[in-house]
Amino acid sequence: TPGIRPLIAGNWKMNGMSADAGELKAIGEGTFNGAEALLCVPATLMMLARDALGERVHLGGQDCHTAASGAHTGDVSAEMLADAGATHVLVGHSERRTDHGETDALVSDKAEAAWRAGLTAVICIGETKAEREAGETLSVLSRQILGSVPKGAQAKNTVVAYEPVWAIGTGLTPTVEDVAEAHRHIRGELEKLLGEEAGKMRILYGGSVKPGNATELLSVEHVDGALVGGASLKAVDFLAIAAAC
Ligand code: PEP
Repeated sequence: TPGIRPLIAGNWKMNGMSADAGELKAIGEGTFNGAEALLCVPATLMMLARDALGERVHLGGQDCHTAASGAHTGDVSAEMLADAGATHVLVGHSERRTDHGETDALVSDKAEAAWRAGLTAVICIGETKAEREAGETLSVLSRQILGSVPKGAQAKNTVVAYEPVWAIGTGLTPTVEDVAEAHRHIRGELEKLLGEEAGKMRILYGGSVKPGNATELLSVEHVDGALVGGASLKAVDFLAIAAAC
């Protein structure tokens, strides 16, 4: 989108050990041309990743609790992520929605928690295979945007990631026409919700982005970057995707 600097975001999910510091270092040494780069690592790797990634790659968490601190065993707050050097956090990833029953309302609260801590919220939405086959893709996206994107969202504190659930980790991707339709629809819904601000907000595509399909996917109108899972684990692949921007 004219005037929007692309963002290439990696999501390591529940992968990565301290022995992978070399991979983090290699990502940190990459060149990203005009794009911004972000890597979302497991909580256990935050401190190590902050050092290894250096100055040019933003650090992100993969989820946060809505509270700043307290009796929530096993959870991590947005403030803790910020304290560990994060600038971003994923909220509402489909694996969180599925594995932990996260609702749109909870995702919206998590986005506001991210802002409270000074983080940019990367709000993930996307339809399941059954919803696509039932012709419900656009209505699902509308519902998720209305429910998960808080009213105060601004381009500087919010990124929307469109990730068709059936495309995540499967090697399947929508056609460029389907990606274009979904992203155009998302932009329109954000405009209804946020007005002019929506024109500046990044909308990422995620779901089986690889070096081989990145150029095609990233050239679609209203695709302002990518959220990359599996292919972000290898620095060479992640950097090849970034080079496609
Ligand atoms: C993701 O985890 O957000 C994702 C898109 O995964 P993958 O690239 O492996 O499909």
